[in-house]
Amino acid sequence: MNRNDSELMLGLLAREGFRQAANPREADLVVLNSCQIRAQAEDKAYSYLGHWNTLKKHRPDLKIALTGCVAQQTGENAFSRSPGVDIVVGTQNLHDLPALVRRAFAGEERVMAVDRQKSRSSYDMMEDVAPVRQSAVSAWVTIIEGCDYFCTYCVVPYTRGRQISRPRESILAEARDLAALGYREITLLGQTVDSYGRDRPQEAYYLAHLLHDLHAIEGLARIRFMTSHPLDLDDALIAAVADLPRVMAYFHLPMQSGDDDVLARMKRGYTAAQYFERLDAIRARLPHAAISGDFIVGFPGETEAQFERTIEAVTRARFDGANTAAYSPRAQTPAGIWESRGEGVISDAVKQDRLQRLNTVITAQSLANNQQFEGQQVEVLVEGPSKRNAQRWTGRTEGNKVVNFDPPQPLGALSPGQLVNVFIEKAFPFSLMGYCVTPPPAPSASPEIFTENTQRTAALADAVR
Ligand code: SAH
Ligand code: SF4
Repeated sequence: MNRNDSELMLGLLAREGFRQAANPREADLVVLNSCQIRAQAEDKAYSYLGHWNTLKKHRPDLKIALTGCVAQQTGENAFSRSPGVDIVVGTQNLHDLPALVRRAFAGEERVMAVDRQKSRSSYDMMEDVAPVRQSAVSAWVTIIEGCDYFCTYCVVPYTRGRQISRPRESILAEARDLAALGYREITLLGQTVDSYGRDRPQEAYYLAHLLHDLHAIEGLARIRFMTSHPLDLDDALIAAVADLPRVMAYFHLPMQSGDDDVLARMKRGYTAAQYFERLDAIRARLPHAAISGDFIVGFPGETEAQFERTIEAVTRARFDGANTAAYSPRAQTPAGIWESRGEGVISDAVKQDRLQRLNTVITAQSLANNQQFEGQQVEVLVEGPSKRNAQRWTGRTEGNKVVNFDPPQPLGALSPGQLVNVFIEKAFPFSLMGYCVTPPPAPSASPEIFTENTQRTAALADAVR
């Protein structure tokens, strides 16, 4: 979601006449779009600001903007905490970025906009801004912002605000534009993407309805969505995924813990059994669906026995992958307050030990899942030449697995955005390897569009480097 916001900010600034610099040393303005989900992300933001403060000593004209969740939470304290910062833009004020930048360049000091809660989705307010996208093939499309769940460990509702669904017309218009530009895949984004529409019950238009409407758009080969919340993943959504062939059977469905007591203290709203009821419902309709999750270890008070229930749950779920994290206390959140009072604190050593044990089980499991593809053909959406080996190509399967593959022999022309069949020779825990067996069909978009998008992506990749 932050990447998608960065793409939007690049679009906003491009309209102001900014171009991307090759690196911060050549820039007039640097923008740090920050994340605050764990202490590590926040520390990283301040470490970048530290580097840029040093740079500013040699280049006093350089302007530094802090955006994203750290900006939202820190507000004007960001100016004293990191003295080089000129502009602070909260998550609710993305649309104000151009005006704030103009004021800073006009000489105003300490320019800031950090509202508590916007009333309209950013992506709806800035419909006329073309995001500068990182990929020429796949595009992020934010459909719902914020979160109303208030899990006790999580800072998102405080930093991203209340849940706001973007109007369907705005989403469908963006998706049509993307298809016309030659994009082949869209991923619908939201902290709880399957809550889409629940803040506007009078419309009775939810994610399943949106998927049906998006599926009717010609040119889009693949539609994905993430992240799903187990309480919102209803049968209508599963049925939509099953009925619509271009909606990919891939669910990112965080569980967080396998223990009911921990889940209750996290305020997740479900038990392990209820989570599995949803998982089983997916597998009953879509036996081939890929499913991944998120887990936190070392939540305050988590006992060894409770952690072992997470291991048991992971083993039973047969996940295709999972993001795992050691619990990181966040000020403001209920669990952060327990931790600050010393209640149930788990030592870093225990957290790291549990994290490593959990990761070992998940890695073994995703390897076992991937090995089922050995000797089979899978359909792959081609992304481009592999970064590690220019002779190889890379793409993804329906289940979002990365596939590195040799191009067709004799060497056929492959282009990003094509769907090809790949014979899988070898599986690894986080990728598959094979060779292309079908000559790729003609791309649906005009080659000029691909070239233009590919050039833009290459320029962006250089800028990021
Ligand atoms: N909305 C999604 C998750 C969004 S946050 C959901 O409901 O699951 C992404 C992930 O970051 C979470 O799934 C969680 O595993 C992790 N996370 C959030 N807060 C955390 C914290 N304080 N410490 C460690 N991990 C955290
Ligand atoms: Fe955070 Fe997700 Fe819980 Fe919302 S549902 S509070 S984003 S973990």
